Amino acid sequence: MTVTESPAESALTADEQRVDALVTELLAAYPPKSTDPTTFLGAQFDAGLAWVHFPVGHGGLGLNPKLQKLINERVFAEGAPHTGARNPIGHGMCGPTVAVWGSEAQKTRYLRPLFTCEEIWCQLFSEPGAGSDFAGLSSRGVRDGDEWICNGQKVWTTLAHVARWGLLVVRTDPQAVKHAGLTAFVVDMHAPTVEVKPLRQMTGEAEFNEVFFTDTRIPSSEMLGGPGDGWRVSLTTLMNERVSIGGAIPAKGSGTIRDLVKTWQALPAERQTPAARDEVMKLWVRAELLRLTNIRANQNRKMGDPGPEGSIGKGASAELNKDIYAMIVDLMGADGMLYGSYEMTRPASALNFDTMQKAFLRMRANSIEGGTTEVMKNILGERVLGLPGDVRVDRDRPWSEVPRN
Ligand SMILES: Cc1cc2nc3c(=O)[nH]c(=O)nc-3n(C[C@H](O)[C@H](O)[C@H](O)COP(=O)(O)OP(=O)(O)OC[C@H]3O[C@@H](n4cnc5c(N)ncnc54)[C@H](O)[C@@H]3O)c2cc1C
Repeated sequence: MTVTESPAESALTADEQRVDALVTELLAAYPPKSTDPTTFLGAQFDAGLAWVHFPVGHGGLGLNPKLQKLINERVFAEGAPHTGARNPIGHGMCGPTVAVWGSEAQKTRYLRPLFTCEEIWCQLFSEPGAGSDFAGLSSRGVRDGDEWICNGQKVWTTLAHVARWGLLVVRTDPQAVKHAGLTAFVVDMHAPTVEVKPLRQMTGEAEFNEVFFTDTRIPSSEMLGGPGDGWRVSLTTLMNERVSIGGAIPAKGSGTIRDLVKTWQALPAERQTPAARDEVMKLWVRAELLRLTNIRANQNRKMGDPGPEGSIGKGASAELNKDIYAMIVDLMGADGMLYGSYEMTRPASALNFDTMQKAFLRMRANSIEGGTTEVMKNILGERVLGLPGDVRVDRDRPWSEVPRN
């Protein structure tokens, strides 16, 4: 029997060749090791290799998103800068949201400096009374001619202290049911009416912040989508967030599991007990399973945004990372208790792990940030497995009539 490629497969091969040739050109014209990061990332964006599935002219080539893996592997192998590390919220969540919901003017204005990291972004969703139940948020936006006046408080806003722009969701119609009354905006984080205060984590770092808006005026042209589209806009952000956090496909044996293997290998022989080896191997198998699951999800991904199945990688990676670093600290024995300083610092980027002890403390947040593990299970149960839904007593009531503290 002769096996022939389907039209889709041969088309993909042609796309792969095209992308591969563009990467070769990029690396030849801008060798990453001798090119300054902003120039390299700008050239990568202009070649359509930033987010390959974005439209032509806006950092992409309108191709299947799985081709991004091919690009990333080649450029990172040559030492290229990584936007996801320096501008994680911008790269993983805000950029994809602007690409789907932004006007042509917004895409042109925001995407390139976001990708080059000349402008850092933050995501202003969570509030003191609205985290998992984000659609119940209370910050208000009131129209005043061609502007919207926004008031309220956001919390846990990662990198707000270095952000140039924020993706803000506020309630613009309190009489509508909670999901229908939201609107999304791009907000200028340098406006004098925006106040950013650090929130210290148990690592000692303040990666995130409280953000207060007091009569902050935002032009209507900075809306993403239309009035009342805020929930749908946010879903684009949240779906991308889950894949950005939990969908990584490291090379086999790399990623967080490498830290465990290195810790194991550095142990004196008498501490490499069979019981500990068994635990290390179980974690290695879980890491490999997650890697293969994410490869499969990436292969199955069609054009457009990730679906609810992104919650698999998000939930699994959170629990795995916590277990890996707990095991590392366990293997380190008394050394695992040593910690440099809890003095508050305000880092310029998130997720900097200079020690295993710090990584252990920071990983505890993995099952909270980007949606808790319990909420991921709800999403998978309801939207992937079709199980009966969570109890939602406020779904059909106007937000203004829902009792709250
Ligand atoms: C490190 C870090 C960075 C973050 N960065 C940002 C950011 O940049 N921008 C931003 O907007 N937010 C950010 N967050 C906030 C994050 O999205 C919220 O903390 C998260 O959604 C949970 O909300 P909450 O803290 O209000 O907890 P709650 O929603 O109050 O949840 C409390 C507990 O109840 C459980 N629970 C709640 N509802 C249900 C349910 N229906 N079924 C079962 N269990 C439930 C939760 O799982 C949790 O255990 C960050 C958080 C962390 C830890």
